[in-house]
Amino acid sequence: MRTFAAICCSVLLGCPTSPAIDDAGAAPDAGQLGDAGLSLTDAGTDGGPDPAGDAGAEDAGVAWDGGLTFDAGVVKGPFDAGSQPGGPVPGELTYWQLELPPGVIPFPRSGEAAVLVGADGTLVVIDVGNSNHDDEVRAAVRELNTQWLTAARGYRARAPLEVDWVILTHFHADHVGAFERLTSGAEPLTITGGVVHRGFVDVGPAVNEADFQQVCARLRGSLAAKNVALCTGAPESACTVSTRAPASGCPGLTLGDLSRPDDDALGLASFIPLGAGARLELLGAGGFALEGDVVAAAPSFGVTDVNEENARSVVGLVRHGAFRLLFAGDLSGSGAAGEPDVESFVARRQAASLGALGVDVTHANHHARKTSSNATWVQAAAPVDGRGRNVIAGINTAYVNSPHQETLDAWLSGGRLGGGRFVVTKRAPAAGTSPLLVDVNGRVTVQTVQQGDGYWLEGAAWPSVRR
Ligand SMILES: [Zn+2]
Repeated sequence: MRTFAAICCSVLLGCPTSPAIDDAGAAPDAGQLGDAGLSLTDAGTDGGPDPAGDAGAEDAGVAWDGGLTFDAGVVKGPFDAGSQPGGPVPGELTYWQLELPPGVIPFPRSGEAAVLVGADGTLVVIDVGNSNHDDEVRAAVRELNTQWLTAARGYRARAPLEVDWVILTHFHADHVGAFERLTSGAEPLTITGGVVHRGFVDVGPAVNEADFQQVCARLRGSLAAKNVALCTGAPESACTVSTRAPASGCPGLTLGDLSRPDDDALGLASFIPLGAGARLELLGAGGFALEGDVVAAAPSFGVTDVNEENARSVVGLVRHGAFRLLFAGDLSGSGAAGEPDVESFVARRQAASLGALGVDVTHANHHARKTSSNATWVQAAAPVDGRGRNVIAGINTAYVNSPHQETLDAWLSGGRLGGGRFVVTKRAPAAGTSPLLVDVNGRVTVQTVQQGDGYWLEGAAWPSVRR
């Protein structure tokens, strides 16, 4: 297996240049990326407020918080991130953005998947990759359960393929294609909690119908007891794209703790508990978003453009102590025809949640393509305040042009990320470039330390301090 020590390099001390991109033979199967060639507005030229004064030490290995007041009003002392953990440890979060090779038969396939480990070992798979990626997802789950989340290391005993939750951000093949193989056959995942998805509503030609049909049928069939649809309607889709079945709302966003049915009627914002107070909060889905505990709908949009399906992606915010990680599948934001600006809609509804504090690690929407990462979204996640933040993206060589130069510029111009970097699993052919782009050419790992006061990011081997 890959270890931290084997792959980490210090950006400050000089990483080797990114590995050569093996792209000569890759078919440009951008497939459903829907790249219409639009430009994003420049998000990174504003000066923003003065740096908070605690950024300078973040890259020094042992950082000092500068005596600032923290969220809870507690002034903390010097921060020593300690040594980088070799893997998940009880009381901390681990996030793996998986490397999903495109394969060669019948054509290279795009795909994205991540695995989140809670402080108590709760295991959440966020998207499962394309139809050829079940092996990689299964291997990651098995590695976690058999090597890391063991009783000897302080976790409860787990079955090798046990998963607590699966989140399917939307119904495109590169996110749900492996679901059928992962939930059937000789080696199915054992899902103990539920499968969270945007709901079987507002479907149309923008979804990959065969994949949607399999997911829909499975979650109405053998996994019906695990089906957690965030948005609903009446009637709902018959697992086909022939009828739109509009959503009437998203009652799944206000079920409180999704692991407990007894608080469902209270109308509180939905979350998955991750142990030690850590949570995965569900902020939006289906073109809807929470504002506090109230669900609001974005202006209506269609079901035919691929980016209209992207715009219905599930949005989630992971919190542990002061640490925050934001993900939103392929959420679109350009606002051009067929590319609804749901990024701005969600960011504005969640202003109090994201707010001035921003996010430590943001998963770049839509494989860092320029249909997403608009100025409002970027500003909400990464306000220019001198703090170090990082952006990660799940990319393989089938996502030709990812990360787009426009996306890199949106996140990196104007020193927006402080000492942080833009870290990708793989830089695709003809992608953008930046000195701050780190091509890990493999799994990207985020590991919190000291109950979320800081974190290590693989591929950029310095401890980043929240505040
Ligand atoms: Zn995608």
